Amino acid sequence: MMTAIRTTCAYCGVGCGIRATVTGERTVEIAGDPDHPANRGRLCSKGTHLGETVGLEGRLLHPMIGAKRASWDKALDLVARKFKETIARHGPNSVAFYVSGQLLTEDYYVANKLMKGFIGSANIDTNSRLCMSSAVAGHIRGFGEDVVPATYDDLDVADLFVLVGSNTAWCHPIVYQRIRARCEAGAKLVVIDPRRTETAEEADLHLAIRPGSDVALMNGLLQHCRDAGALDEAWLAAHVAAPEDFWDQLGEGSDLWSVAKTCDVDAADLRRFYELFAATPRTVTLFSQGINQSTSGTDQVNAILNLHLATGRIGKPGAAPFSITGQPNAMGGREVGGLASTLAAHMDFGPEARARVQRFWAAPAIAEKPGLKAVDLFRAVGEGRIKALWVMATNPAVSMPDANRVREALAACPFVVVSDVIEKTDTGAFAHVRLPAAAWGEKDGTVTNSDRTISRQRALFPLPGEAMPDWWIVKEVARRMGWKNAFAYDRAADIWREHCRLSTYDNDGARLFALPGAAQGGNAAYDDMQPFRWGGDAMFADGRFPTDDGRARLVPVAQKPLPAPLEKWPLTLNSGRYRDQWHTMTRTGLAPKLARHRAEPLVEVHPRDGEQWDLADGGLARVATPQGESLYRVAFAEGQRRGELFVPIHWTDRTASGGRTGLLPRPLVDPHSGQPGFKRTPARIEAVSPRWRGFLLLNHDPAERPGCLWATRVAVPSGTLWELAGDGDLKSLEATLPKGERIEAEDRARGTRRIAIVASGRLAAALFVTETGELPPRDWLIAQLAAPDVAPTLLAGRAPGAAADRGPIVCVCFDIGLKTIAAAIRDQSLTDVAAIGAAIGAGTNCGSCRPALARILSEEKSHAA
Ligand code: SF4
Repeated sequence: MMTAIRTTCAYCGVGCGIRATVTGERTVEIAGDPDHPANRGRLCSKGTHLGETVGLEGRLLHPMIGAKRASWDKALDLVARKFKETIARHGPNSVAFYVSGQLLTEDYYVANKLMKGFIGSANIDTNSRLCMSSAVAGHIRGFGEDVVPATYDDLDVADLFVLVGSNTAWCHPIVYQRIRARCEAGAKLVVIDPRRTETAEEADLHLAIRPGSDVALMNGLLQHCRDAGALDEAWLAAHVAAPEDFWDQLGEGSDLWSVAKTCDVDAADLRRFYELFAATPRTVTLFSQGINQSTSGTDQVNAILNLHLATGRIGKPGAAPFSITGQPNAMGGREVGGLASTLAAHMDFGPEARARVQRFWAAPAIAEKPGLKAVDLFRAVGEGRIKALWVMATNPAVSMPDANRVREALAACPFVVVSDVIEKTDTGAFAHVRLPAAAWGEKDGTVTNSDRTISRQRALFPLPGEAMPDWWIVKEVARRMGWKNAFAYDRAADIWREHCRLSTYDNDGARLFALPGAAQGGNAAYDDMQPFRWGGDAMFADGRFPTDDGRARLVPVAQKPLPAPLEKWPLTLNSGRYRDQWHTMTRTGLAPKLARHRAEPLVEVHPRDGEQWDLADGGLARVATPQGESLYRVAFAEGQRRGELFVPIHWTDRTASGGRTGLLPRPLVDPHSGQPGFKRTPARIEAVSPRWRGFLLLNHDPAERPGCLWATRVAVPSGTLWELAGDGDLKSLEATLPKGERIEAEDRARGTRRIAIVASGRLAAALFVTETGELPPRDWLIAQLAAPDVAPTLLAGRAPGAAADRGPIVCVCFDIGLKTIAAAIRDQSLTDVAAIGAAIGAGTNCGSCRPALARILSEEKSHAA
């Protein structure tokens, strides 16, 4: 019998444990690990379908110098020589690393050590800067150290959940399921989000506040708690310090009516929230990108921390502020010091810490001050101040704000190295050297999740081609730069032990981050490591904080004025994630089932705004900001506030001709954390009306995107589907069709053409376009790619007597569409989500679609009423 390997999910910061059973050369069965404390056996749709993403399609398997394959020795020698020459000529601050929360802690540690201790610069920053660096800055201001006080166990005993700027049902589904389970036992859920997301739809109360008004909301709540006698005066007196005028400053503009006006919410709803909060000591306030990705992100974090500190809702079961991180190892990166603003192991750049770390590393040149944060780092690349850049496991040409400027910077940089698992990425196109890195399922190391639990990620497959772990690649460059002894690691466990020793080195308890026991273990102990939470289960229970006087800090924060919409840019653009996709889709984009939930990048817009701007639901629109413009498919959404747009972050030049969201936001950052404000960009929208629309189905993944106005790649079993629209003729599209027997039909009245190519007795391609007619549902044609025979009705797009259209897929685990679910609700008089599950199975596996099922139920009920 095959033994399951215990590892962790590749995606979000929930950090779910997985039992992976390897069933073939590159095949694996994935199951939730019932013994992992983060998920207790559950997985969401992304984790469940990890097995669909472990193939070698699109992998970078060999070092490349330019377009030519090179040996590891040649590529590493070149990287080391170029970095050394640049440093010798222009100084240590002329080079930079831009790394990722996808790296394992061991990878992060080696990269940080090389840059800060040996090159002597702190120009290493991570894409976690874009995700949660405001939480880091807020924790340091409030607690004295970047420590998350909450644990997932708090979710099981809380009586009130306040979700702020977090579509938890989509972005942290297993956390959300734990919250729902507690709500079913009577706890209340309040969601604060400008959008009515699936998370908000299930809430007891949803406050759709004006974007950027969070500080006003939280300050008003703190004032209400004070007025209602809900502050914990004894805790405050014993454990918290505040500036003398803290409460005076708070009072201004914090009355209920002023706050309701600033936040643009109903005063009665606001009062309900305030009273509920004041009356519920066991409250967990969870926050993520809606709070962090703001030019006031750190103040917003501290407004939340102030509330919990002042009401004594910290260090007690079921009571804590809880920053939930986006990436699998954002927290591990914070622990090693992978942000430009921290040195290492939760130490700053003060003289004592610098001397300590330099001593520990026996380092020749410790960084003197914080380095360039992501936005400034790429600005420095563009201005020629950074002359050699190494990008590891991330895609800044897509994900950075004002991404077109980032592309210009990369194009102008004299030397760019990209280490990645994927051969063709938007960033890789700018690289002088590309280095093949190990992917999830091949890497071995540790990750830290949102609640400080450290888990092993274990290799399932041998390293393919010449791919190597990131730590190995970095240490080989370091050794070639002349630091052989300091980077003499043979295995990830060597690095782990050094990381643990640094955490306890010269640490008398002043730094809470410490891994004392872990430093002692040998290789076998590392291999067998069980998940454990550093800092214990009751952080701050003793009321002691890692500050000079042992007290936490109330940080005065004030609501910034919210500017009125601009005449030229009358709308406000927000961006975020889809339930079943991850970052730039290099992995989830391979999984056909995950593509079913949202196949194309949508711009969600309120229907009345849609009318105002002459948009058509399902049509195309161009979203423009002062930074650039991109195309999207329009989706009317009642859950959008008027005047606001929402777009996803996942699509790239590789996967679509539109939907490239990163180029739209301004490169404006929070002054404390350097985190960009992605959530509030002045924008406008206009309809785009292509002459024709259609789709191209291929039995392979073409090297190039089809050349037309709108082309979006959708992963399907046995091939690829491109959703298309355009104005020109079809010549270039026809040129993409493979050779084979051609079957064709044309309806000139509707401007419709349908072409099928049959090769070796199977459907090899189908190109369907129309100007005014209908296009068939894609499912049946997609299935024909793998059918052993050619159906005579290919050009009809459906088999005679075929099953009815299932509609968009809602439950990806069991491939169940919206129309099937709605019909079951109507025909079988189903009244709740559990009944839908019992009747047709939807929602009974990973559970990620349960909020969607609840919404469909409610829509069917309102249709019936
Ligand atoms: S919630 Fe989903 S994506 Fe996040 S770690 Fe768990 S299984 Fe992976």
